[in-house]
Amino acid sequence: MTSPDALRPRRRPTPSVDVGGVLVGSAHPVVVQSMTNTDTADPHATALQVARLWAAGSQLVRVTVNTEAAAAAVPEMIRRVRDLGCDVPVIGDFHYNGHRLLVEHPAAALALAKYRINPGNVGTKRRDENFQTIVRVAVDNDRPVRIGVNWGSLDADLLTALMEANARLPAPLDARDVMIEAMLQSALRSAELAEETGLRHDRIIVSAKVSNVRDLVDVYRSLAARCDYPLHLGLTEAGMGERAIVASTAGLSILLDEGIGDTIRVSLTPEPGGDRAKEVEVAQQVLQALGLRSFMPQVSACPGCGRTTSTFFQEMARDIDVHLKDRMPAWRERYPGVEDLRVAVMGCVVNGPGESKHADIGISLPGTFEDPVAPVFIDGRLDRTLRGDGIVAEFVGILEEYVDRRYGGAAAGQAPAAG
Ligand code: SF4
Repeated sequence: MTSPDALRPRRRPTPSVDVGGVLVGSAHPVVVQSMTNTDTADPHATALQVARLWAAGSQLVRVTVNTEAAAAAVPEMIRRVRDLGCDVPVIGDFHYNGHRLLVEHPAAALALAKYRINPGNVGTKRRDENFQTIVRVAVDNDRPVRIGVNWGSLDADLLTALMEANARLPAPLDARDVMIEAMLQSALRSAELAEETGLRHDRIIVSAKVSNVRDLVDVYRSLAARCDYPLHLGLTEAGMGERAIVASTAGLSILLDEGIGDTIRVSLTPEPGGDRAKEVEVAQQVLQALGLRSFMPQVSACPGCGRTTSTFFQEMARDIDVHLKDRMPAWRERYPGVEDLRVAVMGCVVNGPGESKHADIGISLPGTFEDPVAPVFIDGRLDRTLRGDGIVAEFVGILEEYVDRRYGGAAAGQAPAAG
């Protein structure tokens, strides 16, 4: 059988960019990142959210630095993040006034692990000068930069020039193709200018975000073919809820499966009062579903059908999922490799035993009109049969024992037992 490693896409080769100790590039796992939505001028609220995103698994966290007050608050905010026991690199997101804020707030420039520059938002008359000012601060502080083009703030002069040149062609290209070309040229010319200004090649990450899946795929395929910088992937302005999650997943999956993308962010508009860390969870799930990284044990649960008339099966699948999430912070420390665990919770005899045998540990519940018994499979073999009201608690106990037996040895320096 083909090994999972052989099935993984070969990443497009890039240099490695060190972002505050987190390495981004093809030689390293795809990095998950996120962005706060607090006012950076409020160091307390921002530090709490940075730590929350980090605790959810975000390896890099970006904050907006948009005002004098925000820039002034950055060092204090990052001190508070460290006081919370969180060592995540914090990235500054700059638009319009980054050249001024970074020069006038050297402590902020030093505290931040990377600067994001949007070449479409560094001014018009003094665009290159302002851009170079930011790059010089990066060089002086030995910080990497992300050149982050966004189609919503594309360099208007460049786009106009390309549109005019296109209009003069005997067979003009579609406006969409010109827009994509403008994004690529904006990113690549800016990267070239950054290098001419003294920034090392391996201190540059590039992104070119759009809000439509097809455009995203075309932009990044072209970008990947025309440079070797590590690429930051993400669908911008993806929106809210399931639609945003599906669109982000679709776009990221196509590109990641072609080996394109070295760090990802899923931009979700949270529900009012919703958890910002949802974007981290979705990014992790995309990588895990593609077999690129493992973060959490996977629960395979059948969708249920007319053979499972009670809600018992759905409740059990949910309870086990919640149990795994609750236990992961402790398990991660104690049981290296546990994130690869596969658990099956199945609704009836049709697919239950088969799917459970393919998991490391699985349970097949009784469907309607079946004997009220629930066989438990461990490492592909029937281990025991549960019955009665305490099935969930008993299965969770068996799961805990299994995790300790299989992964407990690894903490003491032994390899996990093969499943
Ligand atoms: S395993 Fe059974 S309950 Fe689950 S979807 Fe299949 S037939 Fe329905």
